Amino acid sequence: MNRLFKTCVAMAMTTVSVMALASDAVRLEATAIRDAARADLTGYHLVRDLTTEVGARMPGTEADKRGVDWMVKRFNALGFDKVWTEPVTFPNWVRGAEKAWVNAPFKQDLHITALGGSVGTEGAVSGEVVMFADLEALKKADPANVAGKMVYVAKRMFRHIEGAGYGEAVVARAQGAGVAAEKGAAAFLIRSIGTDSHRFPHTGMMSARPNIVAAALSNPDADQLERLMAKHTISVTVDVNAGFQGEYTSHNVIADITGSEFPEEIILIGGHLDSWDLGTGAIDDGAGVGITTGAAVQFLKKGQRPKRTIRVVAFANEEQGLIGAYHYAKAHEAELDKHIVASESDFGAGPVWSWVTNIDEPLPAWMDVAREVMMGLEIPYRGNHATGGGPDIIPLFQKGVKVFRLNQDGRDYFDLHHTADDTFDKIDRDAFQQNVAAWATMLYFFAQQPEVVTEQK
Ligand SMILES: [Zn+2]
Repeated sequence: MNRLFKTCVAMAMTTVSVMALASDAVRLEATAIRDAARADLTGYHLVRDLTTEVGARMPGTEADKRGVDWMVKRFNALGFDKVWTEPVTFPNWVRGAEKAWVNAPFKQDLHITALGGSVGTEGAVSGEVVMFADLEALKKADPANVAGKMVYVAKRMFRHIEGAGYGEAVVARAQGAGVAAEKGAAAFLIRSIGTDSHRFPHTGMMSARPNIVAAALSNPDADQLERLMAKHTISVTVDVNAGFQGEYTSHNVIADITGSEFPEEIILIGGHLDSWDLGTGAIDDGAGVGITTGAAVQFLKKGQRPKRTIRVVAFANEEQGLIGAYHYAKAHEAELDKHIVASESDFGAGPVWSWVTNIDEPLPAWMDVAREVMMGLEIPYRGNHATGGGPDIIPLFQKGVKVFRLNQDGRDYFDLHHTADDTFDKIDRDAFQQNVAAWATMLYFFAQQPEVVTEQK
């Protein structure tokens, strides 16, 4: 044992204790920001006011413009360093009056709503209903059994904490009318892509542009139709006024808190500002805009200014095909390597129950502390294998931007999603505040711990 060795041991011990002290300080700071965020109602008030003062914000409507103006004003009022808009142009789909009824043998109304992208009926269209269990069954159908008929797809969505039932059910909404139209159907109806038993039909976009009317029945109306069809041949009439009318230009609304040390490096978070027209866009996605903004404003406080830039984006027209998101990714293509990490909140306002990342390995040293601080919100870390950062982050993720995801309990999300029932009262304040706290914690680590993240660059 020589003197050099002893010196080395002493130095190593000093390094360890300095690191321990540093991580204690980080833990304390992160915990303080987490707890302050949980108590701060800025984000909750944002979604309350947005859904009250603007209401539904369907792309292309006059409320779309009011929503953009409102958001610019609110970001400015909250004190963001820089607030601006970027234009996003898309085909303007318009919904008019819509109704449907059973003609025979038992005349009665059905509650329906047109699917996004549907044409109108130009007067009413009537015919015998032919039922298919799912999209696959419709694809296999003999056109002779479909031509001139009212096609109905009965696929039922199941409930799941991560909304796993959606992907399997939503293909019927996305593609069904296109398949039915090719086979000569007169109209296309689906059971709503939703898990509720209320008489609210769920709208949503189609990926196809069929030349026949396409609409969703509320789940109880779908049940009713199936009971009728079990015993009788049923004739239904659909009368819908809808269609594309030219183009519309909306805007992504973007707000920055400029980083004090690495202003060009961006932590991007946000939600989408648009909604469907039936409810007031509270859980989809006023909540996401409110949660992420509520987290970001913690870093406008004195002594907590971020080292990196925190950018909140209220995306335009997510609902009709991530249109604002693709526009953002294109417009900012040259600086995507400066987007350090990105994530969106767009799954309602249920409590966060786990978090995941998809960042460079080896993971930064602060991850251990982050895991601990998040456990204070009962949110365990589930690994570095996130498959995306939310719908509007997909175009960035596809271009290599790193992501994290705060997984929300979405068991009731598809009860409300895209219906008239998506209103502010459905947001549970305590769960909302837990979200804000979790996002603020993430921002603290990603925006405030540059020395650790840049080490890997
Ligand atoms: Zn959404």
